[in-house]
Amino acid sequence: MRTPLVAGNWKMHKDHREAVELVRELDGLLAGLEGVEVAVCPPFTALSDVARALEDSGSPILLGAQDVYPAPEGAFTGEISPRMLRALGVRYVIVGHSERREIIGEKDELVAAKARAVLEEGMVPILCVGETLEEREEGKAVSKVRHQLEAALSAWTGDEVSTGLVIAYEPIWAIGTGRTATPEDAQEMNSFIRGWLAERYGQEVASEVRILYGGSVKPDNAGELMAMPDIDGALVGGASLKAGDFAAIARFRG
Ligand code: PEP
Repeated sequence: MRTPLVAGNWKMHKDHREAVELVRELDGLLAGLEGVEVAVCPPFTALSDVARALEDSGSPILLGAQDVYPAPEGAFTGEISPRMLRALGVRYVIVGHSERREIIGEKDELVAAKARAVLEEGMVPILCVGETLEEREEGKAVSKVRHQLEAALSAWTGDEVSTGLVIAYEPIWAIGTGRTATPEDAQEMNSFIRGWLAERYGQEVASEVRILYGGSVKPDNAGELMAMPDIDGALVGGASLKAGDFAAIARFRG
């Protein structure tokens, strides 16, 4: 059985003090929650303080990062290595988020290298894939996602996929827009992704990989999205900045 993962992507919000306040509030609201993994991905500048706050309170909330550079160390001004993240206790690293692909211009090759680097450091990439509105309207959503999966995972073995990967389907037109994919549309793409995994790595591997949905997830739509058979949790942007909303999403089972 796949344990659902609800991960909050705080993006470029919250300085290190605000981040600690937010995670403490969230930790209180999540007390007693079972059967769901919860992770937060603060900005790099807050990772260390959030890590300490989580450790001090013995919180089950897991730490995630929003990005990484695929080299162990070196002359890469402004970048952060997998080892640096691992040293802080980071478990999940978002790679290939559409904001990095579209705004910063990250290409598939770099996304693939980042995913590998995270895996090789013993952490788990949350690999984001998804189509633009134009691609969806032209009937190219599936081919776009297939291409992103092929580009990112060509070097991965079945074992690596089953134990070291989370995929997040995030239609770009639903991110930060308030426009959510219907549960049926999200299920259709997540089911395609699981089928793609099954073709390459076999049914058993495919059934172990968690495939999240992301795009304007809120307390009032989280339950119906995550009730779908191939939606194993959520990657949450805006609503993860409000402890009450994010906790309600994590408590999607009621
Ligand atoms: C995201 O950035 O991954 C995201 C899903 O954002 P939002 O929930 O704000 O749409």
